[in-house]
Amino acid sequence: MIEEAVLRKVKILSKEENYFAFIRNIRQTVSDTIISDLSPHYLSEPRGAYKNKSLYVVKPRSTKEVSKCLKLATKYKIGVVPWSGGTGLVGGQIAADKYNVTLSLEKMNKIKNFSSVNQSLEVEAGVILESIHEFVDSKNFLFPLSMASKGSCCIGGNLATNAGGIGVLRYGNARDLCLGLEVVLADGSIINDIKTLKKDNTGYDLKNLFIGSEGSLGVITRAVLRLYPTPANKIVVFFGVPDFNAALKTYLEISKRFGQFLQAYELISNVGMLFLEETNMFRSTIQRSKSEWHVLIELGFNNSSVEEEVYEALDNLYNKNIISNVVVGDTETKAQNLWKMREDIPEANRKIGAITSHDISLPLENMESFIKKSVIEIKEINQFLRVNCFGHMGDGNLHFNIFPPKGEKSTSYFKIKTKLTDIINKNCKTLEGSFSAEHGVGRLKVKDLKQYCDPGKFHVMCQLKKAMDPFAILNPGVIVSRDTQDI
Ligand SMILES: Cc1cc2nc3c(=O)[nH]c(=O)nc-3n(C[C@H](O)[C@H](O)[C@H](O)COP(=O)(O)OP(=O)(O)OC[C@H]3O[C@@H](n4cnc5c(N)ncnc54)[C@H](O)[C@@H]3O)c2cc1C
Repeated sequence: MIEEAVLRKVKILSKEENYFAFIRNIRQTVSDTIISDLSPHYLSEPRGAYKNKSLYVVKPRSTKEVSKCLKLATKYKIGVVPWSGGTGLVGGQIAADKYNVTLSLEKMNKIKNFSSVNQSLEVEAGVILESIHEFVDSKNFLFPLSMASKGSCCIGGNLATNAGGIGVLRYGNARDLCLGLEVVLADGSIINDIKTLKKDNTGYDLKNLFIGSEGSLGVITRAVLRLYPTPANKIVVFFGVPDFNAALKTYLEISKRFGQFLQAYELISNVGMLFLEETNMFRSTIQRSKSEWHVLIELGFNNSSVEEEVYEALDNLYNKNIISNVVVGDTETKAQNLWKMREDIPEANRKIGAITSHDISLPLENMESFIKKSVIEIKEINQFLRVNCFGHMGDGNLHFNIFPPKGEKSTSYFKIKTKLTDIINKNCKTLEGSFSAEHGVGRLKVKDLKQYCDPGKFHVMCQLKKAMDPFAILNPGVIVSRDTQDI
């Protein structure tokens, strides 16, 4: 009741007065040292589409400090935008209002409680993904979540976006790799669900509600991660295929015979290879083939007889002209080079400059129809537009990015952005796919969510947001938004 009275009192202050009262209070009641002006590091995001408008960044050092910050934010109704590594691709980490505050988890970066028996590791939200890899590698374990941004993104952001990446096929996405979670709610209360259990059916699955909620329902402060023993051997192979159907046939053959070992099945279009060349990022160790599509596969296993069988299967596919130009990553350097080429594609895309980028998923049996139909419709708008389609084909996730004709600037084509986005989203819906497979909704796809999400599901999302964050202070404008009058 006392809180209510305080809330009513602060309501009569202007937005600006509330904001500065909030900043003063953080300094006085939490710590003077955890708040600073927003430095250039937090200003933008990888695609340069959003600029961070918040004036201050708060860097709590503990869950308690996060709790105190959120309690004050609720009291003064200040929007809080969580920031982990800042590599998100849908603008969720970028504040849209100068009276929002950026909350960076970077000082909460401790790795704790490794257990080889439970095969688990506890980490604070601000630990960089690659540091987790290095730590568990030294213990001969594997944390399979991995992506090109691994050197900058943090586990808090990975869980908040339910990140996917290159190991989903075998190990699942961030959600599948999280055993326990600690979260601070909008009013500052703490949910401690730090557990190492693989089974726990004690009521509603709150952990999985926060994973993928992009900071709109709570701030993730700690997590327990699921580890796997590192497979003793791996095979990394790159090859060309004449068409999508051959890529699918090969996938079905390999996954039928070696599914339990198949860690990645990545599709790369000829346009992707061309973009690497155009941006001088092509690896000369790989012979450039004329194939329409390319595939990069990785298998991990302990039994060395698997190796022979895999190569036999690939030989068979080669002899039937289903695959060609096979490059085997038979040394660690060669394997890394093959992966580097795949992981350089987003950078090549960034250098060339997309008109619009899509992160979609489809049932495998509809993927070819989607690509064909979408490319035809895009070329009807302008036959010289270029499409770079690549991604985690094995788990049904494609990145489908549309570029201006060679040598032209994407900005000259922004007027057709909505038309192109409509083509992709509609085709995804018709072919039972999703317009956001692994990057999330963020600020970029708020309208798409409202338009393409099942109305019943959307209604429950709005109700959840209202119930858990009644003053909409947690990442305002992300997923469901007051601006679109959903909440
Ligand atoms: C080159 C490149 C390649 C990429 N490849 C992939 C890929 O293969 N697969 C994939 O899934 N993604 C990929 N991404 C996107 C991005 O790296 C992931 O979304 C990543 O999980 C974001 O982590 P982050 O720490 O950078 O989060 P941020 O960008 O800081 O934040 C992302 C979102 O989570 C919220 N958030 C951050 N921390 C917390 C927290 N502690 N509690 C609550 N909310 C929080 C933010 O407010 C924001 O909405 C790629 C990005 C780049 C630049």
